[in-house]
Formats: sequence, structure tokens, C-alpha cells
Amino acid sequence: RIVYVNGEYVPEQEAKVSVFDRGFLFADGVYEVTAVLNGKLVDFDGHMRRLHRSLSELQMAMPCDEGELLAIHRAMIEKNALVEGMIYMQITRGAADRDFTFPASATPTLVMFTQTRSIIDSAQAKTGVRVVTVEDLRWGRRDIKTVQLLYPSMAKMIAQGKGADDAWLVQDGMVTEGTSNNTYIVTADGTIVTRDLSHDILPGITRAAVLRCARELQMKVEERAFSVEEALAAREAFSSSATGFVSPVVEIDGKALGDGQPGPVARRLRQVYIEESLKAAI
Ligand code: PLP
Repeated sequence: RIVYVNGEYVPEQEAKVSVFDRGFLFADGVYEVTAVLNGKLVDFDGHMRRLHRSLSELQMAMPCDEGELLAIHRAMIEKNALVEGMIYMQITRGAADRDFTFPASATPTLVMFTQTRSIIDSAQAKTGVRVVTVEDLRWGRRDIKTVQLLYPSMAKMIAQGKGADDAWLVQDGMVTEGTSNNTYIVTADGTIVTRDLSHDILPGITRAAVLRCARELQMKVEERAFSVEEALAAREAFSSSATGFVSPVVEIDGKALGDGQPGPVARRLRQVYIEESLKAAI
């Protein structure tokens, strides 16, 4: 694989980042994951808008302009002959003597790599995902897409240890989001409920697109927190993320939802989201 590090495209074995990089020492960095379909980028502008916001919340500057980031993404697709999968981009504050204070001047580290992955034809979309609820012990600024992912990683291990696929994180009895996705339920009257945006969750780029599709399809949407009890009683459930698209959830804490199969709302939204993404990818 060819990876990108600070202006250079190199084979992955040759890529180097300083041991003093603040991303490595403090998780002082942000990232974006953009899906690639047919060699094209899905919702690149949305990812750029969120990147700007994450950086500015951490008083970090863009390492280069957006046009250049787009050119690097495209070069990565080409150099890796990527047809379907994702591009991971990470920006850290850069290398500096280890100190809690942000360095006055450090050059940001910009890294990208690609991963091939079947997104449209995913096994989990067919069978659905089983989740367990796990207490949300992450920090209080989950709206910033930082590389501080240890707790979500632990939560996913807890879920897999219980024989499930993923964890839904819970704070004060209410679901916040998944380890790497936004979460939705469909209530008995067919309303789609997903947590409202705040510092508690990441504003998913896919979430915004899915809600737009749902409204275009005249589906009823409510943006509010929902409890674990409400989720267990839901007709169906699903999650969304850049690489999972819309993923049906068929079981929560060992309890099957509906008939235990991916639900009609999740399947329809997945299909429409895929169609729209294929049309709009750049
Ligand atoms: N929530 C969390 C915690 C995530 O890590 C992610 C994606 O990685 C999402 C939600 C979904 O965001 P997006 O749709 O932009 O991929």
C-alpha cells in the first residue's frame, strides 16, 4: 500500500512519524474517514466541513487548503487502485517537546491511508448487527472527531466478549451513539428517533444524509435522546457511518427486535442512501 505522510507518497513500510508527535503522546489530533465507491469520494464536502470544525475547536490550523486535500485524496485512490473502501486522514498538532501546553509553533502532521472494503455488498447489512449496551465513559467533547478512541475500542471488546458485534453507549439510561456510528430506533408508530446533536455525540456526515433521505421519503423523524427501554421495545433499529452506511440492528442486549431480521425502514434508507451516494460521489 502507498500511504501519504507530510507531502510524500511512500510504501507503508517506509512511512515515518516522530515519536514526539502529539498525536502519539496525547491523542492530540483529529481524523476523517471518507467512503470511496467506484473510485469516487462520498460526501467529501461534508467531511471537510466537519474537519474545519474539529480543528478550530482544538485551535489547530488546516495543514493545507481544501483543494489540496481533495487532490491528495484523489491521488491516494489512484496510487492504490482503490475502487471501493475508504480513505483515512489524520491531522495531529505535530511534534514538540513533551509538554501539556500546546506548542507555540509546531508543524501539523498529515497522514492518509486507504483500505479496500466491500461497503455496498456487506454481510452485516444482510444479517443485521447485534449490539449490547455499555456505559458511555468517554470524555465530554464527543462532537470533535479526535483520535482518542481507546474507550470505544474497549467498549467494542466488551461487546464482542459478550458475543455481540458492537456496543451502543449509554449515559444516564439514554443511548448516545455506537462505538463508531450514530444510532436510530423506529418506534411502534413508525417514527425514526435519533439523538439530537450536542457535545455528547459526533455529528455524523452519514447521519445528516440519512435524515435528509428520510425526510425526502416523507418518513417521520424525531431528533431526541431515547432510552435503552425504548430501544428494546422498538420495532426496528439501525446505525449509520461513512463505511457502514445504514446498518440494520437486529438484537439489543440479547433481545431480538421485531422478527429479528433487518427492518424495512433500515433497508429502504440503506438503498436510497446508496443510490444518492453513487450519484453524488466526486
Ligand atoms: N459516532 C462516532 C463515535 C463515530 O466514530 C462515527 C464515525 O466514525 C460516527 C458517529 C459516524 O460518523 P460518520 O457518518 O461521519 O462516519
